[in-house]
Amino acid sequence: MLSDGVLTFLPFVRRIREATVSEERKPSIKKIRSTGAMKRLMAEYFAELDEAATTGSAKVAWCTSVGPAELLRSFGFRVYFPENHGALLGASRMAAELIPAANAFGYSPDICSYLTSDVGSFLQKKTPLTPAFGMASVPKADLLIYNTNQCRDVQDWLAFYQREWQVPMAGILTPRSLGEITSTHIESLATQHRELIPLLEEVSGQAFDIDRLREVVASSFRCTQLWKKVLRLAEHKPSPLTFFDGTIHMGPAVVLRGDPRAETYYETLIAELKQRTAEQLGAVDGESYRFYWEGMPVWGKLRDHAETFAEHRACVVASTYCNSWIFDGLGEQDPFKGMARAYSEIFIVRSEEFKEEYLARMVREYEIDGIVFHDAKTCPNNSNNRYGLPGRVLDSLDVPHVVINGDLNDLRMYSEEQARTQFEALVEQLHERGS
Ligand code: SF4
Repeated sequence: MLSDGVLTFLPFVRRIREATVSEERKPSIKKIRSTGAMKRLMAEYFAELDEAATTGSAKVAWCTSVGPAELLRSFGFRVYFPENHGALLGASRMAAELIPAANAFGYSPDICSYLTSDVGSFLQKKTPLTPAFGMASVPKADLLIYNTNQCRDVQDWLAFYQREWQVPMAGILTPRSLGEITSTHIESLATQHRELIPLLEEVSGQAFDIDRLREVVASSFRCTQLWKKVLRLAEHKPSPLTFFDGTIHMGPAVVLRGDPRAETYYETLIAELKQRTAEQLGAVDGESYRFYWEGMPVWGKLRDHAETFAEHRACVVASTYCNSWIFDGLGEQDPFKGMARAYSEIFIVRSEEFKEEYLARMVREYEIDGIVFHDAKTCPNNSNNRYGLPGRVLDSLDVPHVVINGDLNDLRMYSEEQARTQFEALVEQLHERGS
């Protein structure tokens, strides 16, 4: 369904569509040279996980994406992130054939499609890790650790593997919809992190070492600050990167935070992007419009979306999703309080008022012309259009927006035609305004 204010522009949209078939409007997607270094780093990461799981050389811990990865790494665990596998299942479009297996097993098509595609992958014994990294399967866990800061689905997801493998599972229960984050919140969450220690000692066979934890948290903090720098380079006009680039290059910040190799990678990427800004080389040729993406990516359509925006000289310069791996809180002196703060400060955990102010700030700081809200059918937690937020934020800012209905992984919920119409309607609105 089209959002208000867009319907009137449909005739113009049709005209645009006719124009876009012409050869001269073919999009040029600029390749980031550092991608090769990132792919090698990700291959190393998966090779180490595979080696640990198949030879027993190190213990493997599964950790939800904004869980206590630093604490696990300080015990020498190889840390695996099931949501990263979920994204790979979506991007490779394997999710479509695997989700029905999870549905048949009893998981509803309405719940997180990362969960259902991952469980389907396990049941069907098919994973994109095989063609991409030569792994026979996902690495079997010795331990499962979650944080419910983002949703309850992550706990249910890991519980599937707990039942399959009979391995220990524990987690952090974070309150949601937080406005101000108080010292009571931080104390409670820091305590929950500390209470994991006996289990981690038992499974890893290693004693807790506070100095090692401080080292890992410090590295993770440096990594997250470098990632922030990457994203902030998009404030430049023209932007040297797009949201779609960000979804790929965030890989090391997601799976290797706390490992110095991630820091090295971002130093390389920043150097390349700074060179682009110095040369006024935008990620999108002739950047005319700057958009914000609110919500999950549609993983199986990243390239299509990147091309559609580029066709219209529109650059999606910023997003809530990529910003979600900026953990300023890790800079706290006390590593437990740092993790507690970092993983409760992020957007998904916060109140509507916080989200409104945050989006308004993003619009100002990145000089945003329009916002795309992605209503992901199976992830209400990352779909922020459902309770009137777009109207409240954007009416006051006078920035047009559209809502696309889709999903992160389940392409049965997505219409190519409708999404394209929405994107083009947004561009046309801006064109009509003379922006
Ligand atoms: S936040 Fe959304 S996409 Fe992520 S695990 Fe939870 S339901 Fe799935």
